[in-house]
Amino acid sequence: MDKLITAMSENREVRVYVANTTNMINDARDLHDLSPISTSALGRTITAAAMMGMMSKIEKEKLTLQIKGSSDIKMIIAVADIYGNVKGYISNPLAENRFTEDGRLAVGEAIGKEGRLVVIRDYGMKEPFIGQSELVSGEIAEDIANYFAKSEQQPTAVGLGVSFDSTGVVKSGGGFIVQLLPEASEATIEQLESNLNKLHSVTQMMDEGLTINQIAGQIFAGLGLEELEQYPLNFKCDCSESKMEDALISLGRTELRAIIDEDGKAELKCHFCNKTYEFDKAKLEAFYNAAK
Ligand SMILES: [Zn+2]
Repeated sequence: MDKLITAMSENREVRVYVANTTNMINDARDLHDLSPISTSALGRTITAAAMMGMMSKIEKEKLTLQIKGSSDIKMIIAVADIYGNVKGYISNPLAENRFTEDGRLAVGEAIGKEGRLVVIRDYGMKEPFIGQSELVSGEIAEDIANYFAKSEQQPTAVGLGVSFDSTGVVKSGGGFIVQLLPEASEATIEQLESNLNKLHSVTQMMDEGLTINQIAGQIFAGLGLEELEQYPLNFKCDCSESKMEDALISLGRTELRAIIDEDGKAELKCHFCNKTYEFDKAKLEAFYNAAK
């Protein structure tokens, strides 16, 4: 099972999140029938969302991460809750593979540099928090680090990666987010920078068999791991018939009357899990009566 760990340094000056999301990314690949580069783009995004979702544990917020691209991939959406459930959508499931000079999938080129990253934290009751920043490279990890620095004034290092076996199945996927707390000392920052400079890429470490605890240990070498917590992660949609009903009712009477007269039924598809919901004329009439 996929999982995420979070920990503080012994001096409580740095927090780290590390996630293994290999199964989730394979589930997303199967469900949406993704090309390798689309798998990599969506995989990186759901991995980041899973970790960012855990940052809202106290407020019980739902976290939505959107990558708005300008090249082959125009939109990626990942939604995560505080229980480790993550769902994801990509506008172009079959983006054509492109490669960097050193042979890696060029996710940044498929997304394009001219774009935006949007973060929505929804408390459920209050107005949602919406933060955004320009994309830096479209590689996602860099874009998220830039978002935290610019939009939330939070010094952050991010690593994300997805690797494939020879049959195209995801071999390993995961990532880390490291955040300096405001009182972090120069010595801590120097130690952390030195550790991050020595660190191999996420996929290289995971392909070599390192566990997420061992990766966290390398990131925090010389700083120690405290308050280690572990959570399971699942690629899972939270759509339901009643949510679809609410969506239909919110269309209003004019729109509902038009659907009843023209089609006599409605079929709604969830973009996150591809499940379809069908509503017959009698149900639509009931929604019409409930609508304004
Ligand atoms: Zn769904």
